[in-house]
This record gives sequence, C-alpha cells and structure tokens, in this order.
Amino acid sequence: MVLKQKEGWIEVITGPMFAGKTEEMIRRVRRLEYAKKNIVVFKPEIDNRYGESEIVSHNKSKTKSINIARAEDMFKHVTKETDVIAIDEVQFLDGKTPEIIEHFADQGKRVIVGGLDTDFRAEPFSFMPTLLSIAEYVTKLSAVCVKCGSPATRTQRIVDGKPARYMDPIVLIGASESYEARCRKCHRVYRKPKPYKER
Ligand code: ADP
Ligand code: MG
Ligand code: ZN
Repeated sequence: MVLKQKEGWIEVITGPMFAGKTEEMIRRVRRLEYAKKNIVVFKPEIDNRYGESEIVSHNKSKTKSINIARAEDMFKHVTKETDVIAIDEVQFLDGKTPEIIEHFADQGKRVIVGGLDTDFRAEPFSFMPTLLSIAEYVTKLSAVCVKCGSPATRTQRIVDGKPARYMDPIVLIGASESYEARCRKCHRVYRKPKPYKER
C-alpha cells in the first residue's frame, strides 16, 4: 500500500468473533503512532465489555479510545489535523455510519474500521455490506472453529447451553449467553429458514 498524504481511503477489517479484528486494528494504530500520525480511535458505547475508554482484544492488547453513542458524535473529535480515524465494533453504530465514514475519506483521512460481517444467524450485519462495498481495502479474517479446528467464518451464539434460535432477539433478558467461533459446517441456528431449496 502506497502511503500518500491527504489521499483518503477506507479500510475494513472483518470476520467473525475471535478472528483477531481488534488485534489487527491495534497493530495498524500502533504503527501509525510510530509514524507520528494524528489518530483518533472510537468505539460504540454499547460495547462496554472492557470499560470506558479503550479497545481491548481477546488476548488483552489495548489502545485508548473514545466511546460514542452515535456516528455523528465523531464530528466532535475529528479535526482538520486528524490523519487517521479508527472505529472498532463499527457494526453497532447507527445507519448514518457509512456516509459519515465516506465523508471523512473524501476529506483525505484514512479510515480504519473493524466489525462483524455477519450476525449469529450468519446473515449480513446491518450496514456492513455497504461498508465492504465502499471500502478500498478489505481484510477478511477467520478464527479457529472450536468444534473441528477448521477456519471459522461464523459466530455461534449459545443460549443456556444450546445453539440460539433464529427468532431470538439480539438482546436476551435473563438468559446466559456466550459466543464461539465456528465454521460453516459446525455453525447452528435453530429454525433458520432454508434460503434455497434444491429441486
Ligand atoms: P475479534 O476482535 O475479531 O473478536 P480479537 O482481536 O479480540 O478478535 O481476539 C483474537 C484473539 O482471540 C486470538 O489471538 C486468540 O488469542 C483468541 N481466541 C480465542 N478463541 C479463539 C478462536 N476460536 N480462534 C481464534 N482465536 C481465538
Ligand atoms: Mg473485536
Ligand atoms: Zn467446524
């Protein structure tokens, strides 16, 4: 990749949970810090798994970040001097996100976003297909399937010890839920409608 100043672009780091999206984002941010770039890192407020003001990978590397409730909040923190904007867990932001990101890239900023491409149903996550289309560079990472060891491209949701049901709401009250990385073969969703019927 040729790094020419004031030429903006969008980079997406995607894949299922545990694929190393946050790790990869932190790696890119670190390198840009060495290059003395003016960087601002955001994450949606909803992702408060690890506290207020940092993004943290599953293997505990971290970097400072700003929590935002809405994509428009980024305008309060991005200035003329900002070279790089990074957003982790971008899929949890609102529908204005793609156009705001595009606006920043048009202004000559490098925008690095990390997020899930699919939800627990293995269906496209919100506006992520749009981001993947408008991005100049896409890195699709895989994890390791906890069942068979193959490359895992999907996120398995487990509710009270069982695979989640298709119609379950995104936020479940009073259930114990967890997530695993799984391959296409080992991924399960109860009562998922068949998308294509073989004749
Ligand atoms: P993501 O942001 O994509 O969810 P992270 O960068 O937070 O991923 O975490 C990646 C790390 O997760 C790996 O380096 C590894 O230490 C850990 N990990 C835990 N379970 C798995 C798995 N099933 N496959 C791959 N990595 C895993
Ligand atoms: Mg992550
Ligand atoms: Zn598998």
